[in-house]
Amino acid sequence: MDVSVIGTGYLGATHAACLAHLGHTVVGFDVDRDRVRQLANGESPFSEPDLDELLRDGVSSGRLRFTDSPELLAGASVHFLCVGTPQRADSAGADLSAVWSAVDLLAEAHAGPALLVGKSTVPVGTAAAIAKRFASQVGAWEVAWNPEFLREGHAVEDSLHPSRIVVGTDSESAWQRICELYQPILDDGARIIRTDFASAELAKVASNVVLAARLSVVNSLAEVCEAAAGNVRDLLEVLGSDDRIGSVYLTPGIGFGGSCLPKDVRAFAERARELGVGESMGLFDEVDRVNLRQRSRTVERAFALAGSPDRAPRIAVLGAAFKAGSDDVRDSPALAIAGSLHDRGARVRIYDPKAVPAARRLRPDLSYTEDAADACEDADLVLVLTEWPEVASLDPRVLANRVARPVVLDARLVLDADRWRDAGWEFHSVGAAHAH
Ligand code: NAD
Repeated sequence: MDVSVIGTGYLGATHAACLAHLGHTVVGFDVDRDRVRQLANGESPFSEPDLDELLRDGVSSGRLRFTDSPELLAGASVHFLCVGTPQRADSAGADLSAVWSAVDLLAEAHAGPALLVGKSTVPVGTAAAIAKRFASQVGAWEVAWNPEFLREGHAVEDSLHPSRIVVGTDSESAWQRICELYQPILDDGARIIRTDFASAELAKVASNVVLAARLSVVNSLAEVCEAAAGNVRDLLEVLGSDDRIGSVYLTPGIGFGGSCLPKDVRAFAERARELGVGESMGLFDEVDRVNLRQRSRTVERAFALAGSPDRAPRIAVLGAAFKAGSDDVRDSPALAIAGSLHDRGARVRIYDPKAVPAARRLRPDLSYTEDAADACEDADLVLVLTEWPEVASLDPRVLANRVARPVVLDARLVLDADRWRDAGWEFHSVGAAHAH
């Protein structure tokens, strides 16, 4: 099928490359010229396993093109909307300006008949508003909402082997065409669920608010463990053994971040208020508040452990990405904590195996290194902020020779405590008493 993908960020670039991999002819459109140029050369603008290879294959096969010329959209009969929907500057709600400018651009570039498939995460009601906008358009436009559940760091794998595909549409022909597009994935056993527009839009934010709430619960439990001389690792083993709870997505840390969860929780509560059902939304305001508190809590604990009240402590920060496997630093708690430590006078050196270039662009005032041992040179405290395997596998005996004081705070529960203690470290971790 001839398809277009509008917006080629993390979601759109991955989606375009995967559709080409499935055999479709794809044109990726973006307003960002530099991004288009890079993608057209078959290079990924961000670090995602297997994405470079899929882009290269797609571009060299001729099935995958990238452009900033809207006229090229007219050649496609299915258009995937993948533009960003960040938080608005003036409220907790979602900024839909990119969605509406893409819809307007598409309506001008293409007279229909065509199918618009929304993949961006949007407030409930957006798909119906877009369908209404197209109802006044010449030519027969159909609309469907097909929210994306991919996880950064697993974007290609999740796109080609999704846990579920959700399609919200009231049109039988739209449903048929989308099934046809995803046929190879469906043949592989993927589950597909058909809903109305509203349920499809809500399905995505519902997943994110449930995950966010779970993390704020577990972070609160970790805080109590610290105060009560308990150990959250033991608690997690007990909780995770209960089939009703399960052990996945149950690790405390420095709070969730990235470009999706925080803004999706806020936008969900904001939209519920607009719909007149704001009374129960205090729960989600609290999820957000508890989440942000993990950042300030980690900063306080780091200063308390770094000692030397009479001079600025040196702190080695291991991790800047918002999660392992990704170079994304958008709303990264790790980078925010490193920034706060620096702003409050600590001498911070940040190591990250992938995210240093992106972090440097966002916080050029901080000091970075691509070597963990260099970050630890003369440090009063080593602070683990991203759960990278590269960090988990560091040799504590080697690092002990580089630091000023062998004190570590594992804020992501990735280090082997016994191994570090045996190498002479004073070991602290999230969810364990200060003296543990
Ligand atoms: P992104 O910021 O990486 O990419 C958005 C892209 O859209 C940018 O390249 C931007 O230049 C482009 N754009 C903006 N306005 C445009 C226009 N009018 N026409 C064409 N292109 C335009 O964002 P992302 O992380 O890819 O997220 C996109 C959407 O997908 C969001 O709604 C997000 O919530 C959702 N989502 C993201 C992920 C993820 O892991 N990143 C996962 C699931 C869903």
